[in-house]
Amino acid sequence: MILLIILSIITIIFFLYAILPSRYFKYIYKKNRREKDKTIYLTFDDGPSEHTNKLLDVLKKYNIKASFFCVANFAKQYPDTIERMSKEKHLICLHSLKHENAYLMSPFKTSNDFSKSLDIMNSLNQKVVYYRPPWGDLNIATLYNLKKHNLKLVLWHVMAEDWESKTSIFEIEVKLLKRIQGSDIICLHDGRGAPNAPLRTIEALDKVIPILLRKGYKFETVDKYYEK
Ligand SMILES: [Zn+2]
Repeated sequence: MILLIILSIITIIFFLYAILPSRYFKYIYKKNRREKDKTIYLTFDDGPSEHTNKLLDVLKKYNIKASFFCVANFAKQYPDTIERMSKEKHLICLHSLKHENAYLMSPFKTSNDFSKSLDIMNSLNQKVVYYRPPWGDLNIATLYNLKKHNLKLVLWHVMAEDWESKTSIFEIEVKLLKRIQGSDIICLHDGRGAPNAPLRTIEALDKVIPILLRKGYKFETVDKYYEK
């Protein structure tokens, strides 16, 4: 009986600490989807990686600016890539220190994750304003740290499962063209995932971007989304 009570209390605390805030913000984000216009916000998580330069080449080819939600420890490994993103006027944002799930992080560890990440980004001359938690999952301490560090939470409207090993280039193209409606924040990946997954994303984008441009869409960084 006592064990059952203890388990129930732990479940309730876990629900209030992490599950409820994560579900709430994902729900609110989808619910408050903007009225459709012809603007698309491309965002890339989980980089930088050895593939990011190739992605920057494709974006440059079409003169498109995107937002990069960088894992701070990866950013430290690729300072030249961060410098190139910055020089080419992409928006550099934060995607945690080492991509750990907020469900499994104590308040202390969460705060540490934020301060260490921001130290790294500052050392790379990047003053970040926008934050996306790994898997979009957050806990109460995430919310506290967002406020403390003056960061804005960014989730997404459209994904293409581009990290999965079974997703082909063609499938990413079809999913993007089918799902994008305009005024959408698109979440893709330039690091992690299945082996070489970002290369498929980059090839798919090289086909999808010109189609969307022909349809009259324009591409902006996420700061513009919040300015509207
Ligand atoms: Zn991620």
